[in-house]
Amino acid sequence: MNEKNLSSSRNKFCSCSSNTEPLNLKLMDPRVEQFIARIKAKNPAEPEFHQAVKEVAESLIPFIEENPKYKYARILDRIAEPERIIIFRVPWFNDKGEIEINRGFRVEMNSAIGPYKGGLRFHPTVNLSIMKFLAFEQVFKNSLTTLPIGGGKGGSDFDPKGKSDNEVMRFCQSFMTELCRHIGPDTDIPAGDIGVGGREIGYLFGQYKRIRNEFTGVLTGKGLEWGGSLIRPEATGYGAVYFAEEMLKTRGESLKGKTVAVSGSGNVAQYTVEKVNQLGGKVITLSDSNGFIYDSDGINAEKLQFIMELKNIKRGRIKEYAQHYGCEYQEGKRPWGVRCFAAFPSATENEITDEDAKTLVGNGCKVVSEGANMPSTPGAVEIFLRAKILYGPGKAANAGGVPGTGLEMAQNSMRLPWSRQEVDGRLREIMQNIHETCVKFGKNDDGYVDYVKGANIGGFVKVANAMLAQGAV
Ligand code: NAP
Repeated sequence: MNEKNLSSSRNKFCSCSSNTEPLNLKLMDPRVEQFIARIKAKNPAEPEFHQAVKEVAESLIPFIEENPKYKYARILDRIAEPERIIIFRVPWFNDKGEIEINRGFRVEMNSAIGPYKGGLRFHPTVNLSIMKFLAFEQVFKNSLTTLPIGGGKGGSDFDPKGKSDNEVMRFCQSFMTELCRHIGPDTDIPAGDIGVGGREIGYLFGQYKRIRNEFTGVLTGKGLEWGGSLIRPEATGYGAVYFAEEMLKTRGESLKGKTVAVSGSGNVAQYTVEKVNQLGGKVITLSDSNGFIYDSDGINAEKLQFIMELKNIKRGRIKEYAQHYGCEYQEGKRPWGVRCFAAFPSATENEITDEDAKTLVGNGCKVVSEGANMPSTPGAVEIFLRAKILYGPGKAANAGGVPGTGLEMAQNSMRLPWSRQEVDGRLREIMQNIHETCVKFGKNDDGYVDYVKGANIGGFVKVANAMLAQGAV
């Protein structure tokens, strides 16, 4: 890190949070409190799962009180209980010929409106709580897209970082040897997530095909030459930007000419940068788990190519960008202290703390569109809502990967590839529809759109009605 550069630009990094009023968290509705107490007792030591369920319950319990048919059928309790959880041993050999053992998961959360669908995450932090929170969120997200897809999620505590391609392949083959008996194109269709990109999907698909002797659309995120869809890699990042644009339209604004902070530098972050650039915005930050870079000139198309090569092929660290382009790098920090008009958290859960949220709001951030799943802490969400900024929660804003995936499934079933324009057009349309649903269910009396409430109720209704129709299963 260049200390001189850093100190000369300190005025760009404002710590306005210290001047902000202390956060006065709202009192919890006793009905939500009772419900969450039950969830905690039944699912101990799963803090991320409790957090995700509580956030949904806060919006849904008042709605369910007004619609007692859901209450008597105990739909919320049933939605919070996975239909099935599979946990399995994944043994594999490293390059030294030693045996390694990881743990594999697949949480099949809800199939009321279609086969389970959701990504696989390979990261050392993966545990049951994280898998269940992601699967729970996925149910609402998939429903919001209006596609007939249920919710699931899976993964492993395997860390692809620092592993050779051969080690990643041997791990994926062992993982799929067990998983293949639980999934299928009409049962459960996994996709990518953190640590699972094109390389991993390729190895997983190869092993599935070999064991089952069938070439089907059982995984999405496949390569273009073997059943993949144009725009699938771009879909989540593009979708988060389309969603931000829809939110901004409600206030007669856009991203054109605005500064944008993005976190992460993986799949979602990269295509967020690409779409912001296409729409005339300027992305000034990116990060990884070691720190963030601040490039006041903006990360243009050429610099983005450098990032893609660095992250997807060389599998290097973000600080190498700062070394290459001579910009600032802050070790061990996240980018939320940088002044920006829009923020796209695109790394991981709880990466925007209450303090970060105060800083963002204090610095004049007008829109937050979540590329990552649950990147804002509950306190941070409350700060955004109180400040009445445009806040798009992950289950709406990052739902673009789902239509991307759904469109890949449709093409696999039809055995026909669609053009880039066709898929991108459908994606944009779906993001507009998700936005409309959020406005329909989330508009408050004062006209402010609470996208959290909108996404939770909008995602719930279709699944709940299907569950009512299908009886106690
Ligand atoms: P990815 O390609 O593996 O990239 C993840 C990025 O986040 C990397 O830059 C990584 O840095 C950083 N990161 C991961 N864990 C971190 C941590 N604990 N602290 C700080 N940085 C961390 O994954 P992705 O597909 O872009 O996913 C990013 C987020 O989007 C996740 O929340 C995921 O659930 C969500 N999402 C993804 C999709 C999709 O289609 N891929 C769809 C919906 C939502 P390192 O390289 O240092 O680990």
